[in-house]
Amino acid sequence: MEHHSGGSGTNKNKQMVEQLQRYGVISSKKVVEVMETIDRALFVPDGTPAYVDSPMAIGYNATISAPHMHATCLQLLEENLQPGMHALDVGSGTGYLTACFATMVGPQGRAIGVEHIPELVAASIKNIEKSAAASLLKGGSLSVHAGDGREGWPEHAPYDAIHVGAAAPEIPQPLIDQLKPGGRMVIPVGKIFQDLQVVDKNLDGSVSIRSETAVRYVPLTSRDAQLKGY
Ligand code: SAH
Repeated sequence: MEHHSGGSGTNKNKQMVEQLQRYGVISSKKVVEVMETIDRALFVPDGTPAYVDSPMAIGYNATISAPHMHATCLQLLEENLQPGMHALDVGSGTGYLTACFATMVGPQGRAIGVEHIPELVAASIKNIEKSAAASLLKGGSLSVHAGDGREGWPEHAPYDAIHVGAAAPEIPQPLIDQLKPGGRMVIPVGKIFQDLQVVDKNLDGSVSIRSETAVRYVPLTSRDAQLKGY
């Protein structure tokens, strides 16, 4: 029955965010705000449950990450996603996190998505156009590009925040190079056993790396390997 459905999509998105707060995944007000602003349902393929806390297939052997992983990464990067800052989302997939980053850094900032499957780039742009980040895309502070994200995106480097949405066997050097001193990268590293690593570039250019948690992501690899099923 209608009144048992949990209300409109936006309400259900809000309920998902509230649940992540109850579970202790999100404690940051800014992360709550951005996840309420960007409706996850606009980013999952039609017919896919949008608000279930699990990754979902998006085609091309890729997945949209689970809401709790999006929340965790947003929270780890929060200080580096302040208005005016530059953010890079490698393996941007559906564009969900790129839209969140763009919303946080605002029109004076820059949010770049890089994704190596051109069809996913096109689909992500359509998703973003339906979302609350549409005006940022139109205004040019948000853009998504087809390319090998292991090379980063030098044009708008250095970045305050870099997020990598696929697991790298080791941290690609171009991404470390494109991190601003004071900047932070969050990247899953490993093959079968993976760690979500937090890479902080210190003001003297050295890097400090720590492991946040064990994770399971699709690999950061070549397009051919991905389309063959790795
Ligand atoms: N954060 C995205 C995650 C998508 S899954 C989301 O939640 O929607 C990881 C993505 O990384 C896939 O879309 C995959 O196509 C992409 N990917 C894997 N290797 C890549 C590479 N070398 N360069 C760019 N994108 C890559």
